[in-house]
Parts: sequence; C-alpha cells; structure tokens
Amino acid sequence: MKTHRLINDPSEVKLEEMGRVSSIMGNEKTRIAFLSLLASVYITIMNAVAWLLTGSLAVLAETMHTTLDILVTTITLVAVGVGSKPPDKEHPYGHGKAESIGGLFGSLFIIVTGILIGYESAERLIMRVPFSPDPVAAVVMVIAIIIDLNRSRALKNAAIKWNSRALEADSYHFMSDVAISASVIALIIVGKLMDLLSPGLFNIWGTVLDSLLAFGIVIYFSIIGVRLIRTSIDELMDRTSEDLVRRATTAAMSVPGVLAVKDVKARRVGSMAHIEITIGVSDHLDVSDAHRIADNVESAIKRDVGSSMVMVHIEPMLRERIEKALAGVEDPVLVNVHELNIVNSPSGVVVSMHAVIKSDAKLEDVDRAIKKIESSIKGAVPDARVWVHVEPDKSVINVNEIKDLANAVSSKYGGYVGDVQVINVHGVDVIRVLVYLPPGIDVVTAHNVATEIESEIAKAYSMPHHVIVSVLPRNETPKLNRARVG
Ligand SMILES: [Zn+2]
Ligand SMILES: [Zn+2]
Ligand SMILES: [Zn+2]
Repeated sequence: MKTHRLINDPSEVKLEEMGRVSSIMGNEKTRIAFLSLLASVYITIMNAVAWLLTGSLAVLAETMHTTLDILVTTITLVAVGVGSKPPDKEHPYGHGKAESIGGLFGSLFIIVTGILIGYESAERLIMRVPFSPDPVAAVVMVIAIIIDLNRSRALKNAAIKWNSRALEADSYHFMSDVAISASVIALIIVGKLMDLLSPGLFNIWGTVLDSLLAFGIVIYFSIIGVRLIRTSIDELMDRTSEDLVRRATTAAMSVPGVLAVKDVKARRVGSMAHIEITIGVSDHLDVSDAHRIADNVESAIKRDVGSSMVMVHIEPMLRERIEKALAGVEDPVLVNVHELNIVNSPSGVVVSMHAVIKSDAKLEDVDRAIKKIESSIKGAVPDARVWVHVEPDKSVINVNEIKDLANAVSSKYGGYVGDVQVINVHGVDVIRVLVYLPPGIDVVTAHNVATEIESEIAKAYSMPHHVIVSVLPRNETPKLNRARVG
C-alpha cells in the first residue's frame, strides 16, 4: 500500500499562518511597485512640462515613452498585489503566478519600448536630423536618470529577495531607460567639447553616434527581455527547477529513516517553492513512525529552501525491490503476475501472488517458471517465502455463457441472474455477477450460492478471470455498490 500524505493540510490555521507571511512580503513588494508607479507619473509630468516649454519632438517622444511606463508600472503593481495575496479557497496554491504573468508583460514592454526607440533613432538617422538636444530636455533627462537608477536598484533587490519576475522585468526596463538617457547626456558633453575644436562637425556625427548607441542599447536589453519572457513562461509552465530538486533531495536524504529519495518535482511559483517528493522507508514502520519521518523531511526541506509547500509521498522500499525483481523474470510460459501481496509476518516476509501461465504449458514448465520467480525474489529479499497461485491463460469471455452458468445455480435456490459486468484491470479480466435470491434466505446459504457460482465460472473460464458474485434480495432495485456477500 502506498501512503499518500499532504503535509500542508489546508486547515484554517495553516492558511492563516501562510496568509500572514505573504502579507508581510506583499507589503514590501507592493510598496516598491507603488513607488515605481509614482516615479513614472512624476517623470511623465516633468516630460510633459518640458515638451510644453520646448515643443521639442524628442521630448514629446520621451513623454509618450514614460506614459507607456505608467501603464507598465501599473500592470506590475497589480501583478505584485495579486501575487502577494495569501492562498484562499479558490487558489489553495496561492496567487504567485500573477507575478509571472506580470513578468511576461513587463519583459514584452522592454522589447516594445526598444522597438519604439530604435524606430525613432532610425528615423533621425535617415532624415539626418542634427543632434541638438534642448538644455531643458537634458535637465529633465538627468533627473529621470537619477530616479530610474534608484528604482531600478530597489526593484532588482526586491526581485531577487522575493524571486519576482514582474519586479525583475521592470528593473531591467528602467535600467535600459537609464542607459538610453545616459548615452544622450554623454553625447551632449562630447558634442560641447567637439564644438570647441570644430564647430558644426558634431551636428551630423552626433546623430550617427546617438543612433548607433541607441541601437546597441536596445538590442542588449531586448535580449534580456527575451530571456525574461522565457523565464516567465517557464514559471507559468511549471518548468522544473534543477536547483530546488537538488536541494530538496539532499535535505530529504539527510533525515534519519529515509532510505531513498525519488520522483522529486519542484517548481517556483512567485516567492513560494512547491515541492513533491517520494521517500523510500522501511516496510516495517508503523504509520505514526512513517508520518514522523515525513514531517522531518518537510522541515528539513523548508529549512533549506525557505517558504515552500512540501508534499511527501511515502513508499515502502521492500515492495519496490520485489516489483523490480519480478520485472526481471522471463519465461516463455509466463504471461503475467498480479495480486502481489507482501506480508511482514513475525517469522519473515511472505510474498504471495497470482501467476498467469499459458494454457498449453505442462506442469514441469510451470515449475520452471515459478522457480525463476522464487529465486529472483530471494535475490532481492533473501529471507522471503514465496507463494504463487497459478492460473491458466484463457480465452475471451462470453457474457451470455456466464449468465447461463450463474442461472443454472441460482435457479436451484429460487433466484435469477441480473447484470453481468466484465472489466479489465491491468490485463486481468474481472467478472461481476449480480444474483437475486428470495429475501428470506439466510446469509450462509446466500454465501454458498455465491461461492458455487464463482467456482462454476472459475472452472469454465479459469483464472485470471476473477469472479465476484454479489447477492441481492429479489424484487428490489439493484444497487451497484451493494456489498459483496463473500
Ligand atoms: Zn521606459
Ligand atoms: Zn489472479
Ligand atoms: Zn466467501
């Protein structure tokens, strides 16, 4: 039996506790996103005023750009705000993916802004617009550079601290804005110096240099934008985090009682890590001991990777070893093995199973196949005792024939046969027969009828066609989930 266990059971207390943690995180993140929005509004107003004063087309373009930035920072604020909301009934895994969506938009805007700037530069280059920035525009640019440098750094720190793609995208965006503005300021200074040497020369070369620098910066940040888009999509697609997998595996292996770690699934959703892990433990543990080990694994992982949801799946190692050993057994007469049961009796391990053998096999062939099974299991579990029930491989099931067989028995007791169902479970046919008997019949007789029908069908069809006969009182509407008498 596999033991599934959800460590973070979504009880009220846990949700509340997680809610507190994420609202603390939310406050800091949303504050930075909000300040960034205010900065965008402020810079835009500044640019608009500068445009009214100068009428410069370059300043108008910059005003349009920073207006777009207001939209960008608003989306980021919404994404971070939603992303910081604690898990609730509708979103038990939290809202962290809102930040990945915000990151997707943010990185798209880096590229869109880059295309706009590149287009303007190309236009200036082709039209041979002389490089003559307005002094008012230059002052506005310097102020914008100072603001953008600061918020870019603050956004970057918060992005790293909370693993937020939305904040990271904006951090790069404003870094690219800084680079563009700084290159213009640098060219103004170079231009002024060159004017001293050869007046007028920089008018043309300034435009060329300005455009080339802008192209370079735009290309550089577009590459970053594309990379961020990929990271955001990876988060949305739950791409595995190799780093998390490695750390969770190491942490789990360090817990006493953990014999093996496998099937580690790990991903990041916003600031939260989600980890699913399967640990192998000794088969002889009772549930509470296994539970304690799983708890320790959860704590060990949380200590290492920080805020996370951890789900631990416990698997007894013995079963896995035996299944692996059985998978390696090959014999021409052996069709399949099922109903594998492993019992830890005080005198040692008992492994019982059904083996389906080809119907034309002789007993000596069967013996050879069983010996292979035995020796393979004993290779994995030396003290195991192996009990094998042999079943011939048999032909296709005929439902009408089964009905006839069952009717022949049940009519002797005044009953009749209802529904016959056949389902295939892992290559083994299971037959279920509903039989109606007089309501006054006692349970011992009813059980005998069921057993008689089961054995008639088993004789005619042999196993692996497993038979379950359900007995119901007649004149009653059949209920399919009625317990089997047997
Ligand atoms: Zn911008
Ligand atoms: Zn069987
Ligand atoms: Zn029985």
